[in-house]
Amino acid sequence: MTDQMHDLFIIGGGINGCGIARDAAGRGLSVVLAEQGDLASATSSASTKLFHGGLRYLEYFEFRLVREALIERETLLQAMPHISWPMRFVLPYHASMRFEGATPTSRLLNVVMPWMKGRRPAWLIRLGLFLYDHLGGRKILPPTQVVDLTTAVEGKPLHSKFETAYEYSDCWVEDARLVALNARDAVNRGARILTRTKVIAADRLKDHWVITLEDVETGEHRTERARMLINAAGPWVGNVIANTLRLNSRDGVRLVRGSHIVTKRLYDHDKCYFFQGTDGRIIFAIPYETDFTLIGTTDAEHHDVSEKPRCTEEERDYLIRFANGYFKRQLTADDVVWTYSGVRPLYDDGSSSATAATRDYTLKVDDTGGAPILNIFGGKITTYRRLAEAAMAKVKGYVPDLKPDWTAGVPLPGGDFPVDGVDHLIVEAKIQFPFLDDRLIRRLVRGYGTDLWAILGQARSIEELGQHFGATLYEAEVNWLMEHEFAREAEDVLWRRTKLGLRFEDAEVEALDAWMRDKRRY
Ligand SMILES: Cc1cc2nc3c(=O)[nH]c(=O)nc-3n(C[C@H](O)[C@H](O)[C@H](O)COP(=O)(O)OP(=O)(O)OC[C@H]3O[C@@H](n4cnc5c(N)ncnc54)[C@H](O)[C@@H]3O)c2cc1C
Repeated sequence: MTDQMHDLFIIGGGINGCGIARDAAGRGLSVVLAEQGDLASATSSASTKLFHGGLRYLEYFEFRLVREALIERETLLQAMPHISWPMRFVLPYHASMRFEGATPTSRLLNVVMPWMKGRRPAWLIRLGLFLYDHLGGRKILPPTQVVDLTTAVEGKPLHSKFETAYEYSDCWVEDARLVALNARDAVNRGARILTRTKVIAADRLKDHWVITLEDVETGEHRTERARMLINAAGPWVGNVIANTLRLNSRDGVRLVRGSHIVTKRLYDHDKCYFFQGTDGRIIFAIPYETDFTLIGTTDAEHHDVSEKPRCTEEERDYLIRFANGYFKRQLTADDVVWTYSGVRPLYDDGSSSATAATRDYTLKVDDTGGAPILNIFGGKITTYRRLAEAAMAKVKGYVPDLKPDWTAGVPLPGGDFPVDGVDHLIVEAKIQFPFLDDRLIRRLVRGYGTDLWAILGQARSIEELGQHFGATLYEAEVNWLMEHEFAREAEDVLWRRTKLGLRFEDAEVEALDAWMRDKRRY
C-alpha cells in the first residue's frame, strides 16, 4: 500500500477516463488511472471515428447533444490537426428512404403528413442539414451543398437511381490515438497511468477510498488511496458499481453493440457516404487507411459485458446488403478483409430500441455513506473533452479550490501546428529525412505530428531507424510507442497506436511481439 493520498482515482483507460485524467492533472490534482487492458482496448478503438454532431440525432430532438458536439468539432480539430481532419459526407437522396419508427420526428410527421407512410421527405433532410450548418457556428468547416450525382464523380460508384445528394461537413479522428495522446498529456502534467491493471475492489471510508489493484500480467495485488473515485469503465460501469464496489444504484447502462466491416478501397475520391436505409437506420462508407473502405455501423443489443464483441455473420451480411443498395459494385463476404466491433455504454433511458437510446452522457455522483464516487454513463468520442469539464464541475463540490476549465485550445502532444499545416509538415519532414518514402512520412505526420522529429531523432538513413518489422514499421517508432505511449504488445502497436495490422503478415506479427517481449525484459 502506498501512503500517498491522491485526489482522484479513475477506473478505465478509454477516452472518457483519459480525457478526465488529462483535464484533472492540468488543474493540479493528483490523479491515478487504472486500465485493465491496453489504453482504448474496448469501445474507444471501435468507433466509427467521427467527430460529428450526429445528424440523425436531430430526428430524436437531441438538440443539446448535437449543438455541443457541432461546436466541439472545430475546437478538437484545432487541438489535434495531426490525428483529425475535416471530411465531406455525401448523402444520396431517394424517395423510398424511411424513418426509424420511434423517432419523435417520425411520430409527428405521421400525424401531420400521414400519406408519407414513414418516408423521409427531401425538405426534411434539407431542414436537418440547415440546422446542422447553423446550430454549431462553423468557422473552419464548409457548409452543405447540393450535388448532381448524374455528373459528379461522387455519383460514379452509385446506382443510377440516385440522382441528387446533399453534401455536408464532419470530421475524422483516429480514436485510439486520441486516447493515447490524452494519456500521454495527462502523464506530462503529473498523472500516473497504470495499464494492464484491474481494479478488483474498493473500500469506501469516511473521507477516502482504498482501491485494490491487480497487475493483470503478474497477478500481484496492491492498494492505492484517493479522496474521490471516478468510474469511467465504459461498458463495465454497471458491473463496477454492482460487483467491484458492491454499491446500489438506480442508474443502468444499456449495452448496444456496433460492428464495422473493412473492404479494399471501393471508390476513387476522398469523400464519405451517408447511406439511409429503408429500415430507418443509416450507415457510413468512409475512405480508410488509404487503400480501404470502412462501412458501418450496426445497433444490436449486447447482453453480457464479459462477452467480447465481434461482428456476427448476420451483422456483416446486413452491412453488405445495405451498401449494395447504393454501390454498383456488389460486395460479398469475400470482399471483407477485416471487421471490428465495440459496445456503446449508453445511459439506460428506457427507449424501446437500441437505435433510439440516447447518445448523450449522464454523470452521477454518489456520496451517501462516505467518500464520493462519480459514475459516467454514455458519451461520444466527440464530446469527451466537454464530458471531462462536466466531470470536473462535479469534482469541484469536493475540491473547492479547483482551477478553471483549461483544455479548449490547448493542443495534444504533437498537435502544436496550424489546423491546415499537415502538408507543410510533410514537406519539412521530406527535406530533413529524404530517405523516407512518402507513405511512411505521411503516416508519421498523421500519427505523431511534430513529435515525428523526436521519434526519428538524428537518423540519416533508413538503417538508422533500426529493425524493420513489416510494412512501414521500424524499431525507432516501436521504441517511442513503448517508452511514451504505453504500448506493450504487438497488438497495441498494430491495431491501436497504428492500423498497420491491416498490412502485416502473421509471421511479422509474431516477430514483433517476440521483439517487444524481449525489450520489456531489459
Ligand atoms: C460502433 C460504435 C461507433 C461509434 N462511433 C462514434 C463516432 O463516430 N463518434 C463518436 O463521437 N462516438 C462514437 N461512438 C461512441 C464512443 O466510441 C464511446 O462513447 C466512447 O468510446 C466510450 O468511451 P469510454 O471511455 O466511456 O469507454 P471505453 O473505451 O470502453 O473505456 C472503458 C475502459 O474501462 C476499462 N475497465 C473496465 N473495468 C475496469 C476495471 N475493473 N479496472 C480497470 N479498467 C477497467 C476497460 O478495459 C475499458 O478500456 C461509437 C461507439 C460504438 C460502439
